[in-house]
This record gives sequence, structure tokens and C-alpha cells, in this order.
Amino acid sequence: MTDTAPTLVWFRKDLRLGDNPALRAAVEEGGPVIPIFIRDGAVDSLGPAPKWRLGRALDVFGTALAEAGSRLTLRTGDALEVLRALAAETGARRIVWNRLYDPAAIARDTTIKAALTDEGLAIESYGGHLLFEPMGVKTGQGGYYRVYSPFWRAVKDRDVSEPGVAPGTLPPPEAWPEREALSDWNMDKSMRRGAEIVSEHVCVGEAAARQRLDHFLSEIVEGYDSSRDRVAEDGTSRLSAHLALGEIGPRTCWHAGLRALHDGKPGAETFLKELVWREFAYHLLYHTPHLLHDNWRTEWAAFPWNKDETRPDVLAWTQGRTGIEFVDAAMREMYVTGTMHNRGRMIVASYLTKHLLTDWKIGMRWFDAHLVDWDPASNAMGWQWSAGSGPDATPYFRVFNPVTQLEKFDPRRVYVDRWIAEGRARPTKTALQYFDAIPAHWGLSPSDPYPVPVVGAKEGRERALEAYSNRDF
Ligand code: FAD
Repeated sequence: MTDTAPTLVWFRKDLRLGDNPALRAAVEEGGPVIPIFIRDGAVDSLGPAPKWRLGRALDVFGTALAEAGSRLTLRTGDALEVLRALAAETGARRIVWNRLYDPAAIARDTTIKAALTDEGLAIESYGGHLLFEPMGVKTGQGGYYRVYSPFWRAVKDRDVSEPGVAPGTLPPPEAWPEREALSDWNMDKSMRRGAEIVSEHVCVGEAAARQRLDHFLSEIVEGYDSSRDRVAEDGTSRLSAHLALGEIGPRTCWHAGLRALHDGKPGAETFLKELVWREFAYHLLYHTPHLLHDNWRTEWAAFPWNKDETRPDVLAWTQGRTGIEFVDAAMREMYVTGTMHNRGRMIVASYLTKHLLTDWKIGMRWFDAHLVDWDPASNAMGWQWSAGSGPDATPYFRVFNPVTQLEKFDPRRVYVDRWIAEGRARPTKTALQYFDAIPAHWGLSPSDPYPVPVVGAKEGRERALEAYSNRDF
């Protein structure tokens, strides 16, 4: 390797300059740095909302790199072939990236590392997506954790290294490789008319993520223990999409949370615990990859879930037209903002899997398509947790009552009015935006009558309990 050979930095879910171990390693090498992003099968298979959000993230990240004297090289194709070609074109002898932990990414990266190492390139991977890498957290018996609380106890006092600062400038190569134009990737293609609405509600990029973290810690975290459940409030960090794409690193959030805790802000510990739920999701995904596509508890394999996504009650669920206000409000929040409050996610997931006795995979896939903060591990874990088939799940016989939950967490009905227009003389702007965000062919209008429940709260609970009582768990 010569002193001037460039290093390729392959960005994936780490679209940031600060707290980025792979980027820092490339800069410390001293030679030119070539940032790249590859549109491979993993990108092409993203659902419409996460793909659109990624397109926005790449745009903003490209600008941040340009401000640091660099540029993002975009290429399409099989990742191994693209990396091989770029190394040949640029004379790079070293490629670095931050590790990912879903099974498809692990398989891809392992193959690439073996092939390119054989070809004489130096391949280095770093831990930047998580605080505690799944292979580094073991039970006393050397196994993995299946329950969150002991996992939390195992990691909470561990040292987490301080987030690295962003390099001021990135040394450029003598000549930049050719790159594709982001606009040609049409990342917004499948979002259709929803994109315009969702963009009003979405903040993008590393600077926005840091601002949001600062705001959360100065204004919100103190009361987070209770505000996090009040669905109408700005009571959570709203960092999930930033974390999912790596616009902010978990170490940055962890250390900022620790500082808030030391400053005596009581909600900060709960925030740290939530960050560790994200870690736990990846821990489970890494050790039990079937989390993504099979019942985590195998005894659920024989449960007679409804698997027909065209059934009218399931269609009503997808459209936010079940006649159950909490469910409908939350589903509409997702179409308009691209995210959904955590309490809403639990309620809609419970209603689909318990009241409608429908396979959690149908709901998970719907979220895969519609969430801008989509994360494979958190989404799969959240769905299986809600259905009762998952690790550390809510007990299958605990069926959330969406009516009493609404009374508890939205007593003044602000959330419901924010998202439901039908039957209101003066619907809110956001409630009306739903009708502009959904596909036109659904044929819905704010002047439609609000539907009667497809399955009532009490009736659905009794039906679910009856179905469970016939099972041998
Ligand atoms: P905060 O309350 O501020 O929490 C801070 C961070 O901790 C979040 O940004 C997130 O990274 C992490 N976190 C919080 N709660 C959880 C949790 N239950 N599981 C894992 N990590 C958590 N989260 C996603 O990021 N992507 C998903 O695709 C996703 N799908 C979900 C599906 C279902 C059915 C359920 C029940 C939950 C899902 N979650 C998902 C978890 C959670 O709802 C969101 O992380 C949270 O609502 C994001 O809002 P916030 O950033 O304001 O969270």
C-alpha cells in the first residue's frame, strides 16, 4: 500500500460524519478518502416510505460531505462487483465500513470480505450501529438473552466509548470516480402523492438529529417517564428515523442521556432503557434470525391466524377505517407523518393480531412499507411482542382495550381530533392531510361517515380469549 492510496468508505446505515468509527479509521490512515453508497438489492427491496426517506438522507448527507471537501459516490449494482470495480478505478487498497446485524447484511458482508481479502484488499469493519454488539453480550452460561430486563442489567453499567468527533475535512483523491445522480434513482417513485405530505413532518440529516437530541434533553426528557405515553404530546425523542439510518450514532445519544441523568433529570434513565430496547432487538435478531419471518415461540406455529390480507376487516385496518378511534388515528398518523407513536404501534398491532386474529406478519409487512423509521429488528420484535409470539412478549392473554387506552393516554381527545376528520364540522389540517396522503383509489373522503367498528373492543377481546383457550400453550 502506498501512502497516497485512497480508502473507500462504504456507507450504509451510518450516514453521519460524527461518531463514525469506519470514517474515522479512514481519515486516520492519512490518505485520500472516497465515500461511497451502493444501491444494491438491499436498497431496492426497501418499502416505499423507508426508500423515500433514505433518498432524502442521501441528499442531505451528500451536501454535508461536500461541505467537508468531499463527495458521495453513488453506484448501482451488486455490492461486491461495485466495490471491486471502484477499487480498481481509484487504486484503493483498503475498504472500511460499519457493521450491520440483520442476516442478509451479515451474509452479504461476509462474502464480500472473504472475496476481496483473497484479492489482496484490506477490508476492515467497525462497530458503530449499536452500543453493545450482539456477539459481545453473553449470559452467565455463554448464551444470549431472551428477556429484556436481564439484558438491560447486563449492559447498563458497561463502558461505552465516547463518540468520536466529526473530521473537519476529508482528504480528497486526485480524481473522483464517476458517480450516478441521486435523482436518477427515483427513490420517491413508490411514495406517489404521500411524499409531499410526509416531507412536511420529517427532519433529515445529522445536524437535524443533533438539534432534536439537544431539544429533547433540554425540554422533554425530564418528564419523559410519563410524557412518553401521552400520544398527543411532543413527549419522546423522535430520533428513531435518524437512528435507523445512522444520522446520529447510538453512542452520541447514550452519552448525552447519561449526562442528563447525572444532571438530575429523572426521565433520562428511561431514555437510556429505550435505547437499550433497540439494542435488545438487534441482539435477538442476531441470535435468532427467524424473528424476521417465523413465530419466535415455535408453539405459535399451529395458531390459526387469519392470513388473508384482503379480508374487509384487515383492509379497514390498513386504511385506518376500523371504527376504533385509537387504531384509526394511529394508522393515519403513519400515513401523514411516516411514523407512529409507540403507544399507537402497540395498540394497532394488538388490534390486528388479537381483535382481528390476523397474522402479525401482515402487519409487520405493512409497517415495512409505510414507516420512515423502519428498522428490521425493532419492527419484527415489536410485532411479535404485540402478538404474544415473540421474546419477552406481552402475555398472549393480555389484550389491550383500545377504548380505555385512549381514555388513559388521550383523555382530552387531542390525538383523535388531530387525525380523524369524519363527523367533525371543522376537521384539523392534519386530519385532512390523511386524505391527500393515501392512495386515491381508496376512494375516501372527509365527508364519509365515520365507520362503525369492524370488531368492537369487548367483542374482539372475548373472541381472542376464546381462540387462545382452544390452544395448548
Ligand atoms: P423514544 O421513546 O424517544 O425512544 C428513543 C429511542 O429508543 C427510539 O428512537 C428507538 O431507537 C429506541 N426505542 C424506543 N422504544 C423502542 C422499542 N419498543 N423497540 C426498539 N427500540 C425502541 N422502532 C423503530 O425504530 N423502527 C420500527 O420499524 C419500529 N417498529 C415497531 C413496530 C411495533 C409493532 C412496535 C410496538 C414498536 C416498533 N418500534 C420501532 C419501536 C418504537 O415504537 C419506536 O422506536 C418509537 O416509537 C420511536 O419514537 P421515538 O424515537 O420518539 O422513541
